[in-house]
Amino acid sequence: MQTALKDVLAQQDVPYYQSTGNEQQLFETAWQQHLPLLLKGPTGCGKTRFVSHMAAKLGVPLYTVSCHDDLTAADLTGRYLIKGGETVWVDGPLTRAVRHGGICYLDEVVEARKDVTVVLHPLTDDRRLLPLDRTGEMLEAPANFMLVVSYNPGYQNLLKQLKPSTRQRFLAVEFDFPDAETEKAVIMRETGIDVERAALLVRIAGNIRKLTGIDLEEAVSTRLLVYGATLLMANVAFDDAINAAIIEPLSDDADIKAGLREAIGIIR
Ligand code: ADP
Repeated sequence: MQTALKDVLAQQDVPYYQSTGNEQQLFETAWQQHLPLLLKGPTGCGKTRFVSHMAAKLGVPLYTVSCHDDLTAADLTGRYLIKGGETVWVDGPLTRAVRHGGICYLDEVVEARKDVTVVLHPLTDDRRLLPLDRTGEMLEAPANFMLVVSYNPGYQNLLKQLKPSTRQRFLAVEFDFPDAETEKAVIMRETGIDVERAALLVRIAGNIRKLTGIDLEEAVSTRLLVYGATLLMANVAFDDAINAAIIEPLSDDADIKAGLREAIGIIR
């Protein structure tokens, strides 16, 4: 009886994630085999949620780092800081995951500075090492360490591509926006919205995603649809919700925004 209750409680701590293929099996296999994993796919399609779901399911800590163009290797490995007049070494999130076990998830890894790949390479080969030059340590990753990175191959920025020498060190899984039924289920589960309005949001996304000849850097994401549904649930008027959650986040260009409104039937 007690075990059943414990299982139920443990289940509640696992963030909701709706599978769209065999990604869970691949993740579990990569985990068991101590292989690093690369998640490719557009922004807002569920990559981060997937990793938090898997970490909770496996019962290991998750260290998530959103990479940006100022992020250096020291931000991941650690640095000496002055505390109470003394210089002390403070582990960064990657070092913490290697030292104590856990999953380190580097979101949008291509955004990070080049020196980051230098610390990642030895961790992705069989020896799974993290050399810390500053402390003189050579950390060996434990069995319950896993490196997961994500990147968005859709960005048309050649400078921001992941180098083949880095990419080929990872098992890779491609993500995309879920099919209409799954996306509807996600929106309903995330916001409590009714099936009719969830279906309408998914249809709107479908119309935008199939638009060609319109210069959008990114397609409308599941995340934006969840935002739209959240506004509708807070009784924001339909057109305003669509504008704030979908049109404005997608573009700053007046013509493009007008084109989007037309495509989804909101003329303002
Ligand atoms: P990414 O990391 O790909 O940019 P996220 O994982 O942050 O995207 O997803 C954004 C939001 O979309 C999540 O917070 C969640 O509300 C929703 N979402 C997208 N796909 C799924 C899914 N398959 N299962 C559950 N929620 C999802």
